[in-house]
Amino acid sequence: MTTAAAPGIMSLPSDQDSTGRTLGEEEIALLSQAIRTGTLTSTKGAFVKELETRFARLVGAKHAHACSHGSAAIHTAIAAIDPEPGDEIVTTSITDMGALTPILYQGAIPVFADVDPVTCNVTAETIKPVLSSKTKAIIVTHLFGNPCQMQDIMSLARDRKIPVIEDCAQSFQATQKGVPVGTIGDIGCFSLQQGKHITTGEGGIVVTNNDHYARRSFLFINKAWGYGDATPDHYFLALNYRMTELQGAVAVAQLDKLNDAVNQRVTMALLLSGALEGLPGIATPHIADEDVHTFWKYCLRVDAAVIPGGSVKLAAALKTRGIFSAPRYIQKPAFACQIFRDQRTFGNSRFPFTLARPEAVDYDKAKFPGTYSGLEQILVLPWNEKYQISHVEYIATCLREEAEKLAQ
Ligand SMILES: *Cc1c(COP(=O)(O)O)cnc(C)c1O
Repeated sequence: MTTAAAPGIMSLPSDQDSTGRTLGEEEIALLSQAIRTGTLTSTKGAFVKELETRFARLVGAKHAHACSHGSAAIHTAIAAIDPEPGDEIVTTSITDMGALTPILYQGAIPVFADVDPVTCNVTAETIKPVLSSKTKAIIVTHLFGNPCQMQDIMSLARDRKIPVIEDCAQSFQATQKGVPVGTIGDIGCFSLQQGKHITTGEGGIVVTNNDHYARRSFLFINKAWGYGDATPDHYFLALNYRMTELQGAVAVAQLDKLNDAVNQRVTMALLLSGALEGLPGIATPHIADEDVHTFWKYCLRVDAAVIPGGSVKLAAALKTRGIFSAPRYIQKPAFACQIFRDQRTFGNSRFPFTLARPEAVDYDKAKFPGTYSGLEQILVLPWNEKYQISHVEYIATCLREEAEKLAQ
């Protein structure tokens, strides 16, 4: 359902409903088929298995395991690596909370690396100073669909034999030097949540080329029950994180639409970047050579020295034109959220923070210059595969007019 827009205001497709999603007859057909089989659990059905086989082939990974959520995919990847309580996992200060809380659930300590203020991604330079003898893994988020610079990150990690998890929830089909994200590091995690490139409402996928991590991932998603083994047992602490066949059926249909969805997002985003070229105070997304950014969102940077009030004022002006952007994306660095600030975990125990080195949980602002400066500048425009040239032209016109008005 689209609500009628006020005169002169264009209503943009939304990823929260059918206007901005590719769900249609293909999903309905496979969903009906799943229901008719009467088998809705992936332990017996065929759709989730088909999704796993096809997704692995698509990204060029040896293994793919579907699960219930993107957060569950991250949790599974961490459980595959199996940290000891109090081990440290280096992560980013700008990401979704679903990429962070699983670290604590596995008894490990999230250690925040600063980010590059231009891309808001972690880099080898920001990760290096927070590594310690307790670092058990590094998790990178390819924010908004723009790949982190993995070559430097991987060489840093390989030197120290630290596995790298790539959070690809926002970066389906993004590549670096032709290699799909999710297969550059040791484990890749994807989300099929409502607002991602393809969706089943909720859902996740873990990919890896490592047989050991794949086996542990499969088990972790399945209460660690050894399906198919000669003498199966529940081998270790694990949850039921399975995707249902209902989701699997929809996911299989969505997968056929992923290429086109990504192409449309990228084509329209590059069109917008071209249209905004030379607009004072506005910087369009920086994409490194040999990278493909697949635009989960379109993230601008606003220079408050040129546009007074910066991203917040510009967002307010855009709102009057029906464009609902998010200045500062997550508002504050992840470590400034109550869960980290007050260490609210299990009862009053503060576990696992009780095991942390003081430096590992020191969130002094001075340690995160890139994070604060990045958040200050960014303005995240909603984006999806239903955007057409007319939408992009409307956004570009509004941005130009409102930015120029504020700059006067
Ligand atoms: C969406 C998202 C997640 C969590 O995925 P859910 O499916 O919502 O649990 C994790 N990391 C990033 C970067 C995300 O954008």
